[in-house]
Amino acid sequence: MRMYDIILKKRQGNVLTKEEIQYFVDGYTKGIIPDYQASAFMMTLFFQKMTREETVILTEAMMNSGDILDLSPIKGIKVDKHSTGGVGDTTTLILGPMVAAAGAPVAKMSGRGLGHTGGTIDKLESFKGFRTDISQEEFIENVNKIKLALASQTGDLAPADKKLYALRDVTATVDNLSLIAGSIMSKKLAAGADAIVLDVKTGSGAFMKTLDDSIELAKTMMDIGSGMGRETIAIISNMEQPLGRAVGNALEVVEAIETLKGKGPEDLYELCLVLGAQMLMLAKVAKTELEAREKLQQVILDGSALEKFKEFVDLQGGDARAVDNTKLLPNAKFIIEVKSPQDGFIKHIEAEEVGMSALILGAGRETKNSKIDLGVGIYLSKKVGEAVKKGETLAIIHSNDEEKIETAKNSLLNAYRFSQEKVNIPNLIYALVTKEGVVSY
Ligand code: URA
Ligand code: CA
Repeated sequence: MRMYDIILKKRQGNVLTKEEIQYFVDGYTKGIIPDYQASAFMMTLFFQKMTREETVILTEAMMNSGDILDLSPIKGIKVDKHSTGGVGDTTTLILGPMVAAAGAPVAKMSGRGLGHTGGTIDKLESFKGFRTDISQEEFIENVNKIKLALASQTGDLAPADKKLYALRDVTATVDNLSLIAGSIMSKKLAAGADAIVLDVKTGSGAFMKTLDDSIELAKTMMDIGSGMGRETIAIISNMEQPLGRAVGNALEVVEAIETLKGKGPEDLYELCLVLGAQMLMLAKVAKTELEAREKLQQVILDGSALEKFKEFVDLQGGDARAVDNTKLLPNAKFIIEVKSPQDGFIKHIEAEEVGMSALILGAGRETKNSKIDLGVGIYLSKKVGEAVKKGETLAIIHSNDEEKIETAKNSLLNAYRFSQEKVNIPNLIYALVTKEGVVSY
C-alpha cells in the first residue's frame, strides 16, 4: 500500500477501505508517513468528506493507536466531558471542580488550543509549576484522592490524535465533521470514562457553523460512544459570540476563579450548570436535573468548588496561591481600551474574529512550534444585548507586543455589530441530543 494512492483515491471521491484508513493511522503515528502527506490527506478529507462508516473506522483506528486507560481502580461512575471547541470557553476549569465537589469523580483528558479556539491544557499552564503531563498512575491516584484530575494526552493515549490535532491546528483542516468526531471520540474512548457529556458548539465561533451540522456531529459522536458501550449525550450550545467575557489563557483562568466564587459571567455559569447537571445524572449522583443543579449551586455558594480548584492546582504542582492572588498569573505589558464608535445596542460579536484577534496577540499558535503567550488576550466589556454609548469601552486588549495592538483593535471593531433597537439576549442552549432523540430547549 502507498500513501500516495490513498490520497489520490480519496481526492477522486472514493470511499476508503478499513485497511487503507488503518494504514494511514498506523503509518502516521509511527512517523513513517510524513507531515506533508498527512497534511494533503487531511485537506482531501476536508473537501471530499468521509462516510459515517469511514468515520467509525477512523475513530477506532485512532483509539487503538496507543494505550487504552483502565479507570476501574477509580471508585464510582467516571464521567468525562469534552467541548468541540469555542472562543473564551472556560467551562472545564469551572465544571471540573464543581462536579468533583458535588461528589462525582472527574478524570479528564484535555487539549491545547486548536485553530482560533483555546484549550484547557494551555490555560492551566498559567499556574507556575502546573504539571499537565502526569502519569496514568498519578492521574488515577489523584482522582481517588480529590475526585479530580485534568491531564494532557500522554504520549501513549490516542497518539494518532495527538499528532493529527497539532497538524490540523496549523493547516486549516480542523472544521470537518469526521475529523472532529474521530479526534474527540478516539481520546474519550481511550481515556476510559464510563459516560461522556459532549458540548457541541454551534455558530460563528464554532467549527460547525450551523445547527444542522452541529446536530449531525453530535449524533455521530453519540453513536460512536454508544456503539462502544459508553453512555454518551450531547448539549448543543451557542457559540455565536464568545462565552463569558475573557478570551485568552490567563484571563480565562481569572474568569474561572471569579465564576467559582459565584461572581462570573451569567452565560458561562449557566452552561456549567447545564453540563454539570448532565454529568451528575450520568454519574448517578443526582436523580433529576433540578436536584443536580441545586447540588452544583450549593458548592459555589459554600465555597467548596473554589477550595476543590485550589486543592487540584496544588496537587498537580501548580502555585495555588495564584487562586487568591491572581496577580501571580502571567499578564500583559499593554492594556488598551477599545472605544465604541457609536451609541446603540450590541447586536452581534463575531466569535471567530475575536478568537483570531486573540491568536494574533499570541494566545494561540501560528505554527506547530509557536510558543503561546499566556498573558495576552481580550476582555469583552460589552456583550450581545447590552447598551453602549459612543466612546464607552467595548473591549480591552491585553498585549505584550505594541505592534500587534492596531491589528487586534481593527479586528475587534470588525467583530462588533450594532443596532439602534433593543436586542434580546440570545439563547445559550439549543438542544439535548440523547439516544432517545433530539430535545429542543
Ligand atoms: N476538540 C478536539 O479534541 N478535537 C477536535 O478536532 C475539535 C475539538
Ligand atoms: Ca471566557
